[in-house]
Amino acid sequence: MPRARKKLDRIRQVHSWMQSRFRTPHPTVLRFVSPEASEGSLGFVELHRGKLRISLLKTCTHQHLQDLLIHEYSHAMDWSHHRAPRPDHGPHFGVCYSEVYRAYIDEGGWKESYECKW
Ligand SMILES: [Zn+2]
Repeated sequence: MPRARKKLDRIRQVHSWMQSRFRTPHPTVLRFVSPEASEGSLGFVELHRGKLRISLLKTCTHQHLQDLLIHEYSHAMDWSHHRAPRPDHGPHFGVCYSEVYRAYIDEGGWKESYECKW
């Protein structure tokens, strides 16, 4: 399957690639939201019906969406099983972020093509 040419389709493929490479405490789902539904945020993760739902503002540029997906997927990897709140961008988040960033940016993940259902 070739790399998708449309912005949002390509970001969905990148998300599938991340799912194939990195574990998260709950399965992740990706959705794109309009400015009105974005709650004033460019991207966020929430636990929704047993899944970690990643929401990204669909009007962002392709490059920005890639950066946001790396960031929000790292939050999903860092999602706490514990009741005690953890800092949003604590040390474990940093480890997750560096793993995804390195695989995607430095080790050619950005070139990968993955089948995904949409
Ligand atoms: Zn964050």
